[in-house]
Amino acid sequence: MQARVKRNMKEDCIFCKIANGVIPSHTLYEDDNFRVIFDLGPATKGHALILPKCHYDNIYSIDEEAASKVFVLAKKMAGAMTKAFDADGFNVIQNNGEEAGQTVFHFHMHLIPRYKNDNALKLWKAGEAKEEELKELEQKVKECI
Ligand code: 5GP
Ligand code: ZN
Repeated sequence: MQARVKRNMKEDCIFCKIANGVIPSHTLYEDDNFRVIFDLGPATKGHALILPKCHYDNIYSIDEEAASKVFVLAKKMAGAMTKAFDADGFNVIQNNGEEAGQTVFHFHMHLIPRYKNDNALKLWKAGEAKEEELKELEQKVKECI
């Protein structure tokens, strides 16, 4: 029996409604804390989303217990989906904030099976790491942890 995370839904949140079965969905997996559904606009065949049943806007507000469980579930789903769809690779992506591409403000994790030559995603253009800047950035982060 899994420990239940305290349920906290947000009024008018589409993913709260889907995660809690208020709006029906094709469900690949469900437990007390999460539902995994197919994305409405898939990047590739089988693109799915992990939705917590509790509402959290994003990574900044998700509680540590749910955060620790979500990646364990991502690993389980990656294995199952890769086998089921005969995929050649797998992306796990999670966007936070409008500038980072988040469009639905209920925490979710993208599970994207990849196929040879699918050209589905190119996530970033490589920049240049500068030693002086890295030193300064490292210090700033350490001060904020
Ligand atoms: P984000 O850009 O916020 O990381 O991802 C939101 C994702 O949710 C998008 O890939 C979009 O296609 C998907 N999406 C938006 N609305 C719905 C919906 O009502 N049902 C499902 N299954 N997916 C949705
Ligand atoms: Zn929600």
